[in-house]
Amino acid sequence: MVTAKVWVLKKHFQGFPKLSDFDLKQIELPNLKDGELLLESVFLSVDPYMRPYSQRDMKEGDIMIGTQVARIVESKNPAFKVGAFVVGRSGWRTHFISDGKDLQFLPSSWPESLPRSLALGTVGMPGLTAYFGLLDVCKMKPGETVLVNAAAGAVGSVVGQLAKIGGCKVVGCAGSDDKVAYLKKIGFDEAFNYKTVTSLDEALRKASPDGYDCFFDNVGGEFTSIAINQMKKYGRIAVCGAISQYNDSVPQKGPYIQIPLIFKELRVEGFIVSRWSNRWEEGMKALLKWVVEGKVKYHEQVTEGFENMPAAFIGMLKGENLGKAIVKV
Ligand code: NDP
Repeated sequence: MVTAKVWVLKKHFQGFPKLSDFDLKQIELPNLKDGELLLESVFLSVDPYMRPYSQRDMKEGDIMIGTQVARIVESKNPAFKVGAFVVGRSGWRTHFISDGKDLQFLPSSWPESLPRSLALGTVGMPGLTAYFGLLDVCKMKPGETVLVNAAAGAVGSVVGQLAKIGGCKVVGCAGSDDKVAYLKKIGFDEAFNYKTVTSLDEALRKASPDGYDCFFDNVGGEFTSIAINQMKKYGRIAVCGAISQYNDSVPQKGPYIQIPLIFKELRVEGFIVSRWSNRWEEGMKALLKWVVEGKVKYHEQVTEGFENMPAAFIGMLKGENLGKAIVKV
């Protein structure tokens, strides 16, 4: 009999999540039936989507939603060998049982030297979000200028690097000077700290006096309403996330954006990465190749210990992560 530790949502988040909103519990797992396997989480992901999705899809007492890289420790399913690593979607749990249907193997070409945790970041869902958002939603073209916010995070850092690979000029902004230094290190043409600039409008204009063809928006809110005025005519905006609004108890009001949308004839499209689940393999292959070739660099903010999952989640929402926020069990 295996005892799994799990984190449950004790109380729905009111405003910014607190440690007291979570409860650590233990669950006894039953013995395996034929066709099942027992998995042990090795790395777990903490992501911004958990904040709005918990509100929409979960009830108090549910196990927190999320993905992990897990090792198969016991198998009664011939398709899954003990010792193999897979990506699961079993939430914040140290151990779980699966029939294998919801599991994805890491690509067979995964090099030993590469951390498997990247399957939750640069070579996983966030990397794919950058890939499909840029290629299919922004439809970036060589020579264009791309703006991305939350640029030093899991999605944003890949967006900037893919835009460089695609022959674009890239402007990114992030919430600390260290993050800005990192963006320059990984090839962003221009980067600034949105928390310390005296005027966001001026900083955006200085970084690209001619304006922006593509805007990959991870943040929403006030940032968007300012950036939209600096789009070029026929510019494209990929609305990926709205992290500046996820913790609001009262919806923000801001300048309305219809006038610049009309006069600049902008195309604005929201998207969810699962739209491209039939092209997952293509995206994973491309991302893995670029990482192996050193064309896409990665950084992970690894928090040690399953017991620290809520703290890692809250820290990520506060901007404490450089690159992908990961928890190592
Ligand atoms: P990150 O790794 O970028 O972590 C979140 C970052 O957001 C923080 O580090 C912080 O960086 C920044 N942030 C937090 N609050 C604010 C704020 N009020 N204003 C500006 N920036 C803020 O997370 P991900 O890369 O995983 O996700 C980035 C965005 O992409 C999120 O909005 C997420 O919901 C969205 N997303 C959407 C998907 C889709 O399918 N549409 C899929 C995956 C992610 P800083 O220090 O720079 O402030």
